[in-house]
Amino acid sequence: MAYDLMVVAAHPDDAEVQMGGTLAKLIRAGKRALIVDMCDGEPAEFAEPGVRRQQAINAAKIIGADRIFLDQRDRFITDSIPARLMIAQLIRTHRPEMVFATTDACVHPDHAAIGPMVDAGVFYARLKQWDRVSGGESLAGTEPWIVKRLFFPHCKMEPAWGDFAFAVDVSGTYEIKKNALAEYSSIFQVDKGDQLLELYEAEDQHMGRLFGVRYAEVFKSHSPLLVNDPSVFLPGLHA
Ligand SMILES: [Zn+2]
Repeated sequence: MAYDLMVVAAHPDDAEVQMGGTLAKLIRAGKRALIVDMCDGEPAEFAEPGVRRQQAINAAKIIGADRIFLDQRDRFITDSIPARLMIAQLIRTHRPEMVFATTDACVHPDHAAIGPMVDAGVFYARLKQWDRVSGGESLAGTEPWIVKRLFFPHCKMEPAWGDFAFAVDVSGTYEIKKNALAEYSSIFQVDKGDQLLELYEAEDQHMGRLFGVRYAEVFKSHSPLLVNDPSVFLPGLHA
């Protein structure tokens, strides 16, 4: 199936934490979205095996995205050649115009692996002649696909960015993001005083404050950004 955008994340909940408001907004504007979790997030901190996966499926439904789980192991996710090929294969199969991937994440090694893995996967997806590459045969039977934009949402385990490429006003879809994150009782124990979701929300509010809106999610881009018409930008806080 074709998707307009694909989000690659290490674990269930990462996509929602990093860019759930943006996802909900794009989907409600008619885009089709696929969340790719590199693993099923086991063992979950506060639940039996299988619970986190089901919660992730529920959260994706709330957001409006489809979701798949790859078979890498939580805590052992690495930027490997097989993982890059897997991402490239998914890109060729689903042909997204935009891809999003966790970046600048050093504390959790699983998160740190995603950026370079997806960078390479996006590049591999556009290359031809895989039938002549030993070890690359898995891409041989599929058509190349050129991703138009690769963007990187902020990993909230890291300090808030002071520098980013652009922000999305997610004030209108923030309740959807919160409802999706509320599914993850296997990870966030809000009723037992866990403040993590509150702190994540504070960051999105802080980012919104920079623009004079209630909530914003921020993104980096390795490529410089180009627009046809600068009037696409929303008003700045102080022009
Ligand atoms: Zn994670």
